[in-house]
Amino acid sequence: MNLSYQSTRGGESGLTASQAILKGLADDGGLFMPTGIPKLDVSIEQLSKMTYQETAYEVMKLFLTDFTEEELKYCISQAYDSKFDTEEIAPLVKADGAYYLELFHGSTIAFKDMALSILPYFMTTAAKKNHVENEIVILTATSGDTGKAAMAGFADVPGTRIIVFYPKGGVSKVQELQMVTQKGDNTAVVAIHGNFDDAQTGVKKIFGDRDFAEKLAAKGFQLSSANSINIGRLVPQVVYYVYAYAKLVQNGEIQNGEEINITVPTGNFGNILAAYFAKQIGIPVKTLICASNDNKVLYDFFRTGTYDKKREFILTTSPSMDILISSNLERLIYLSTGCDAEANKALMAALSADGAYTVTDAMRAWMKDFVGGYATEAENAAEIKRVYDDTGYMIDTHTGVASAVYRKYVTETGDQTPTVIASTASPYKFSHSVMEAVFGDQGNKDEFAIIDDLCRASGVAIPNAVEEIRNAQIRHKRECDVPAMESTVAEILGL
Ligand SMILES: *Cc1c(COP(=O)(O)O)cnc(C)c1O
Repeated sequence: MNLSYQSTRGGESGLTASQAILKGLADDGGLFMPTGIPKLDVSIEQLSKMTYQETAYEVMKLFLTDFTEEELKYCISQAYDSKFDTEEIAPLVKADGAYYLELFHGSTIAFKDMALSILPYFMTTAAKKNHVENEIVILTATSGDTGKAAMAGFADVPGTRIIVFYPKGGVSKVQELQMVTQKGDNTAVVAIHGNFDDAQTGVKKIFGDRDFAEKLAAKGFQLSSANSINIGRLVPQVVYYVYAYAKLVQNGEIQNGEEINITVPTGNFGNILAAYFAKQIGIPVKTLICASNDNKVLYDFFRTGTYDKKREFILTTSPSMDILISSNLERLIYLSTGCDAEANKALMAALSADGAYTVTDAMRAWMKDFVGGYATEAENAAEIKRVYDDTGYMIDTHTGVASAVYRKYVTETGDQTPTVIASTASPYKFSHSVMEAVFGDQGNKDEFAIIDDLCRASGVAIPNAVEEIRNAQIRHKRECDVPAMESTVAEILGL
């Protein structure tokens, strides 16, 4: 298939995959989408015998059509190596009748590593292919996990700089320590006085500022994104759903061709959109269960057809899902209009002007594969405790939301389809909340004392990513107000 990339808002088309990755976000504020969704050209039978890396090649080559076989295989081999603490890269754990797909075995112990360990290789390969001479500045808004995973990937990569904005007070202690201790001369971390939506909107605004882009270009810089708005994030995330399905077949848990459901703890809608892509390229998936925490804007959307961000932003124990403007939903909206960029653009304009939009009945019908659910803080904590008490398996607060939503879904529908639950972070990353859920109030106990307790309770070794920050030096202390984000970028780059 002759695939190219176009903006969901119609302003740009005909880009190669490498050009779309380099740009990150389209000039009209839209997201890049392939002109069609390709199909796997290997069978499940063949896939079931493949390693993670081999599976990655079969999936990525479908979307990244201007990368040569040699380039893709190089990127894959550099990304999925001993940075992961298991050769399987994304192991499946069966607990309590569901399959937890552990996506947290990379260097920063959250699922963002699955894509961000390869994005820097895509980016540098793409820069070479397109004869880019500028230094690429990666601007990233993070709800806690993307920032660290992106910096781990881009630290000291020649020809790149990375600047991360996170909401001060809106991330876990471990997440914050991981970021502010980041090494690498090309990294910068800024705590903003606002929430994640402020950070993401601020970054998108900088991307849209043409004058600023010219100032940057004059100094030899150009911007790109490591957020899941970059198609180079989405494609690697399709891989593990394909891999999980093939492994379930190989292990005799399901028959080849049998449908599965997938439950994903959702924030920016990137991970679940990747699961939808896996279905579209040929994996038998029935229902995609979109799990939210108390910021249940997506649950309300799937229930009513109205997306309404005008509500209180709630800080929860699953901070990586504390999001009210779910960027990647735009890609689903676009598809649901039959790729009508004008219709999508009108809805996005309504979102930015009025804070809400409503889709048509036809669009809702088109989205029938998705169901929304949400778990309250109490339901999440109870689920983490229940799974631990019943099985000894410790899940993190994001996976807890997904697990709780899945159990509610089964109770309500009676749907017994085998289900994969995306397990998006190590419990160590949210040790305080996890230990509180299982053992009650932790008072003012030191974070690392709690981590040692978690180790004893779970029997899972403390990951390197946590040991690393125990005594690490704080290197980043910058803070700024939301309106000063652009000037902070200028200051960091010495413009
Ligand atoms: C980012 C993140 C999510 C949300 O994923 P999206 O792709 O933004 O929907 C869920 N859990 C964890 C631990 C995350 O880091």
